[in-house]
Amino acid sequence: MALIVQKYGGTSVGSTERIKNVAKRVAKWKAAGYDMVVVVSAMSGETNRLIALAKEIQPHPDPRELDVVAATGEQVTIGLLAMALMELGLKARSYTGSQVRVLTDHAYNKARILEIDESNIRRDLKDGYVAVVAGFQGVDRDGNVTTLGRGGSDTSGVAFAAALKADECQIYTDVDGVYTTDPRIVPEAQRLKTITFEEMLEMASLGSKVLQIRSVEFAGKYKVRLRVLSSLTPPELPIAEEAVSGTLITFEEDADMEQALVSGVAFNRDEAKVTVVGVPDTPGIAYQILDPIAEANIEVDVIVQNIGRDGLTDFSFTTHRNDLKKTLDILERVRKHVGAREVIGDDKICKVGLVGVGMRSHVGVASKMFRALAEEGINIQMISTSEIKITVVIDEKYMELAVRVLHKTFDLDQPR
Ligand code: ASP
Ligand code: MG
Repeated sequence: MALIVQKYGGTSVGSTERIKNVAKRVAKWKAAGYDMVVVVSAMSGETNRLIALAKEIQPHPDPRELDVVAATGEQVTIGLLAMALMELGLKARSYTGSQVRVLTDHAYNKARILEIDESNIRRDLKDGYVAVVAGFQGVDRDGNVTTLGRGGSDTSGVAFAAALKADECQIYTDVDGVYTTDPRIVPEAQRLKTITFEEMLEMASLGSKVLQIRSVEFAGKYKVRLRVLSSLTPPELPIAEEAVSGTLITFEEDADMEQALVSGVAFNRDEAKVTVVGVPDTPGIAYQILDPIAEANIEVDVIVQNIGRDGLTDFSFTTHRNDLKKTLDILERVRKHVGAREVIGDDKICKVGLVGVGMRSHVGVASKMFRALAEEGINIQMISTSEIKITVVIDEKYMELAVRVLHKTFDLDQPR
């Protein structure tokens, strides 16, 4: 029998009324003959509330205890949803991460799933139960509760779908799919019926918040058929309609349609730029700058080293704004050590990127992009490219303008 894993985010289970709606939706799929595993988040705002409580006690909460606290949000929703399903006459059973045994590594607050023991769930499905599982949480080899990082129940959903070899993983959320860009910035943004897994990964890395990036990596690795769809449609919506709604994340080799040149414009305003000015242009300099940054667990993105002149060069990269202060402190030490002239930080920048698998086989996308930005008088500070993405770093005050202009330039406002 076909098996579906559905994941419901915080808004979708934000009240008992909404939980009852989720139950109705699940019951509908079950009645149509599907085996159902449902992964849920905490009620919206709940994880924030729990973390805030921890911080009232300890400004920098102990990581192990923080996970003990943060994981409770999901324990509430699995129990409530199982009850709501029972009220509709279904057999349902809830599981915390440790009851299933979602085995993770020891990295509290950002643990990675190593293995899922799906035997309990398989047995339940065979006995006609709906299995309701807590997202976001797991347990390490020593039995400590762990959590997977904010937004982590997307990853739980995909991981269960992979472990159970589900026919599809459906991520229900408060938007009805993946859009060419954020509709709050460009009202003409179009919903994509499909997007390739690689494009989705690039969109997520650029700051599109629709799916947690790890969940997309997971889906790619295990070839999980993944769909993002709305939980705000009436729960009675006919299955035939619901099953093809939202956005399907496809694998490029399966796509039979003509590939779009550009699929979307993504952006991120949580970034800062740092530049080490006047570093000696000698072998090992990039390593000497970036190694202590990596040691401090700070992620860097766009990296640019200028051509050296008179034995000196400038070295810039972007990082998360929250990490700027820490980064500057580290670079100040590096500056003294390598004899660079100056370290400059700028948190008034943003990243804007074009994503599309069609770029692989088309020339001129970059020049068209740069021309469109130039016509608006937008100065490009940094550029980086991959096979299917072109990213620019610009002044944050031009972000919305840049997104709108690029969306129009690449005809993304046309119905697809
Ligand atoms: N409840 C967790 C969070 O708010 C996990 C999730 O919702 O995906 O981050
Ligand atoms: Mg989410």
